[in-house]
Amino acid sequence: MNRADRLRVAVQKSGRLAQPSQDLLAECGLRFRQSRDKLFCFGETLPIDLLLVRDDDIPRMLAEGSCDLGIVGRNVLAEQDDGTAPVVELRALGFGACRLAIALPQDLPWNGAASLAGLRIATSYPRLLGRYLQSAGVAATVVVLNGSVEIAPRLGSADAVCDLVSSGATLAANQLREVAVVAPSEAVLAGSAAAPLDARTELREMLLRRIE
Ligand code: ATP
Ligand code: ZN
Repeated sequence: MNRADRLRVAVQKSGRLAQPSQDLLAECGLRFRQSRDKLFCFGETLPIDLLLVRDDDIPRMLAEGSCDLGIVGRNVLAEQDDGTAPVVELRALGFGACRLAIALPQDLPWNGAASLAGLRIATSYPRLLGRYLQSAGVAATVVVLNGSVEIAPRLGSADAVCDLVSSGATLAANQLREVAVVAPSEAVLAGSAAAPLDARTELREMLLRRIE
């Protein structure tokens, strides 16, 4: 079948956004039949298929055109935005709310962003943190970690963290206090800035209308 005849939507396979993303599509009237490998779901009610992937892969898949729409945290979309990929946020979806925030150990003082000067800050979001530091005119060392960011200060590998926070419970459990928000986030529907000029254009419009 021609790729142009069916719309492909990428959602997180497992994790915080997985279930709410599938629930949203179900509310839009979409039903799927899962393939044996459980990575591809064939749309039975409409020519809209689902790809179940790691959230971090979604911006690249949209940029290269291997899928047409994706549901991903704005934080992931923004972090991977190097200014070249024509991938944009089409709709905020109202779930997966969180914020990328700076947190400090209790004994470090906070008097605004200048307090970060000279510190080592652990994060999985070097681009967003880098932009924040640059716009504040602060020179700090960004320590890139792919997980367990919040224990870095206790391990001595960083002085502060810049991590995703929702309730704040994880920070509190690690004796960290939130001092500044770098970027508020929630799940968004993302897609290429230019809609494909084929049958998918209409499918995309229909899905956007149903999401409204
Ligand atoms: P994957 O295996 O797909 O890479 P992950 O571990 O990167 O999963 P999750 O922890 O499931 O991802 O988070 C997915 C998204 O959920 C985040 O990118 C963010 O937008 C949102 N989110 C909401 N609250 C939180 C939170 N407290 N911590 C982390 N992410 C949160
Ligand atoms: Zn991820």
